[in-house]
Amino acid sequence: MSVEDQGLIAERAWPPEGELGPVVISEEQIAQRVAELGRQLTADYAGKAPLLIGVLKGAFMFMADICRAIDRPVEVDFMAVASYGTATKTSGVVRIVKDLDADLADRHVLVIEDIVDSGLTLSYLNRYLLSRRPASLEVCALLLKRGQQRAKLDVAYVGFEIEPDFVVGYGLDVAERYRNLPDLRIYNEPAP
Ligand code: 5GP
Repeated sequence: MSVEDQGLIAERAWPPEGELGPVVISEEQIAQRVAELGRQLTADYAGKAPLLIGVLKGAFMFMADICRAIDRPVEVDFMAVASYGTATKTSGVVRIVKDLDADLADRHVLVIEDIVDSGLTLSYLNRYLLSRRPASLEVCALLLKRGQQRAKLDVAYVGFEIEPDFVVGYGLDVAERYRNLPDLRIYNEPAP
């Protein structure tokens, strides 16, 4: 992208009018729930040193907050996955873009996910991670979309259950934008 193009983008109205809907979960609600989950995870992983695996990119902000809310000797690692589909719907076909650095054998693994919608991404990841023989494998998802799961899933820790709207902010994007919003907001897809 040329310097001129970047200048043009910077001059456009931000955020683009009409794209962002109401706040679904506020910054304060997120902070409060992260603290609660942190206390629960601290208790549940007593005597253990869990390995947190963040699923990039959407979970980067949740990972940064939740790992600081767990009062245990945690380690962190990241995976990046790309799922094919439209801008707002996954097909469930997942490609690993960045694999783990850590060895999972005998580790207590906690997957940190941004959002579970159909559950197809998570179900693929679970199978992949289990094949690496961890001592335990649990999932902590910030958001779970009510009634959308097409795969049978066991998500032990859920931040919030939300209605099946497309949301952005707090790490979640649409075409790489809006990850830096502090709240979670509804994204209004522009009419075609
Ligand atoms: P699933 O495989 O569960 O249908 O979709 C999971 C992935 O799709 C999430 O990790 C996320 O990247 C993306 N996704 C699903 N719903 C939303 C949403 O409402 N907003 C955003 N930004 N991404 C979503």
